[in-house]
Amino acid sequence: MIGIFGGTFDPIHIGHLRPVLEVLEDLALDEIRLIPCHVPPHRTAPVANPVQRLAMLEAAIQGVPGLKVDDRELRRDGPSYTVDTLISLRAELGDHRPLCLLLGMDSFRGLDTWRRWRELITLAHIIVMHRPGSQPPAQGEVAALLAEHITDNTALLRACPAGHILLKEVTQLDISATRIRALIKEGKSARYLVPDGVWAMIASEGFYHGARMSRD
Ligand code: ATP
Repeated sequence: MIGIFGGTFDPIHIGHLRPVLEVLEDLALDEIRLIPCHVPPHRTAPVANPVQRLAMLEAAIQGVPGLKVDDRELRRDGPSYTVDTLISLRAELGDHRPLCLLLGMDSFRGLDTWRRWRELITLAHIIVMHRPGSQPPAQGEVAALLAEHITDNTALLRACPAGHILLKEVTQLDISATRIRALIKEGKSARYLVPDGVWAMIASEGFYHGARMSRD
């Protein structure tokens, strides 16, 4: 069973990494591929460029068994739609292998704004990771999708390629890339919010530094 986890990763931080590692281990996935998006459809352009975001991801997962970086969205022109990514993965992995799309709760709540969103559950299972400040949707189309597909049975995920939604408790880390970028711009340190290798890269290359540089 393979997991995929997409994001802007501007930058990757431990609020992404720790929950993903817990999903990898608790659900005994073979691997999780971190997929940085090229042009995010739902937000303004990332601050760091694709090469920088990819380099930070590679540094973040270096030496961690089971975590991989997949740059297919960076190699595609135009907006990075998850449905296209899942279709291209299906073409590679075949129709029968269980595939899990990992999402934070905040992303899951907005799923009905994604391109061809109803197809996503036909292409993969969805693992929703709890995130501080976000509750499961109680009403609306995403709540209905959740009610229809929810399971807490991981054996069921293994038994079929797609179609189930599992809500996953993970260590709650109230960290966002937005906050990290703001700290750095203010001349403060983001040490311990990102892996050491990522912080070393940000500090030396100045990816997010405005006028003032952190002296950390
Ligand atoms: P930004 O602050 O720039 O919007 P972000 O920190 O939310 O960024 P993204 O790269 O946009 O990070 O998120 C990618 C995925 O990671 C999304 O599914 C999001 O819900 C999830 N995610 C991000 N931060 C956390 C966190 N602290 N806990 C759980 N999930 C998270």
